[in-house]
Amino acid sequence: MSPVAFVNGRVLTDAGIEEGLTVLTGSAHIASVNRSEAAGAHAAEEVDLDGKLLLPGFVDAQVNGGGGVLFNETPTVEAIAEIGRVHHRFGTTAFLPTLVSDDLTVVAEAISAAREAIAAGVPGVLGIHIEGPFLNEIRKGVHDASKIRYLDEDAYRLLTRPTGGKTLLTLAPEKTTPQMIRRLCEAGVVVSAGHSNATYAEVRAALDNGLSGFTHLFNAMSPMTVREPGVVGAALDDADSWCSIIVDGHHVDPVMLRLALRCKRRERFILVTDAMPSVGAERKSFSLLGRRITVTDGVCVDEDGTLAGSNIDMASAVRNAARLLDIGIADAARMASRYPADFLGLSSEYGRIAAGWRADLVIADDELNILETWIGGRRLGSSVPVSAVH
Ligand SMILES: [Zn+2]
Repeated sequence: MSPVAFVNGRVLTDAGIEEGLTVLTGSAHIASVNRSEAAGAHAAEEVDLDGKLLLPGFVDAQVNGGGGVLFNETPTVEAIAEIGRVHHRFGTTAFLPTLVSDDLTVVAEAISAAREAIAAGVPGVLGIHIEGPFLNEIRKGVHDASKIRYLDEDAYRLLTRPTGGKTLLTLAPEKTTPQMIRRLCEAGVVVSAGHSNATYAEVRAALDNGLSGFTHLFNAMSPMTVREPGVVGAALDDADSWCSIIVDGHHVDPVMLRLALRCKRRERFILVTDAMPSVGAERKSFSLLGRRITVTDGVCVDEDGTLAGSNIDMASAVRNAARLLDIGIADAARMASRYPADFLGLSSEYGRIAAGWRADLVIADDELNILETWIGGRRLGSSVPVSAVH
């Protein structure tokens, strides 16, 4: 990749949104970020951002589909690539294709597809998020109860198959043992609690054995009550774990999310889309494991009105978080980049605009309309004027 200099933008760095910086890429990584105008002198191309935002590319840990494609339906390399293409338009430069509860044969196919996609260099794919089937039926949400099962040794062997990337597993801690959670974590799996009816004590035991996340906080988990803090109480009480949140204005009342943000460090909240095939697609209905899902007033619901993933893209999630959670664009964008990279153990390469980090970049206007997406130093879309220096 030829070096590219990004100039004249407002750049999100560790210090905040800064002006007057030159961001220079070299190959797939960022070579330098500094105030010297000479920094870009040897760039093959100069991108004049004209006051636009330059943000770290978004990292989405929960993407079920997009562009009419559902990963469960087609757990293939082509599907991962197509889902990625759709979400790139919305600033997502790294993602985990996400499988909801299904037969273990489908889980196996999905893991193979993720491994092959990484090996083939499909842009942005980080691994896989396996959301179920090791869940609690009581909190199944839209998951198919007939798929839910116990996490036995065969399942353990399957879940720990290498993909060449990251495996995120959402499970109900009360449906397995702390020892199993420990073994999964020791094998490199990132374990997150979700679709769970666990007590505080059960979650605490899981946290003590390596559980490090909570999947779509508040949704499909035992709520906080006076004498039983439940999964929500455990998530908010634990300082170190990460909570993913769906900020579409429908999944959770913004008041609850604002309260959650006061309970622990902001660095421990990450935005996920939980996107369904309707994102980036004309058709606003699709089939999810035999159930008809339609998008009504911006929300994906089944025939019973149960929420079935979301219809938002990551740019919308960042925009919503900035506004509904009253945190501003800088922190909202970090919740979609640096913090999820931390959660997934990718903090040394993803999620920041800094020398040595991947050149995964998003150019956006103040309304978070995505104008260009760059992955590994390569431009994927174009509308901002660029001028060749050499
Ligand atoms: Zn879910």
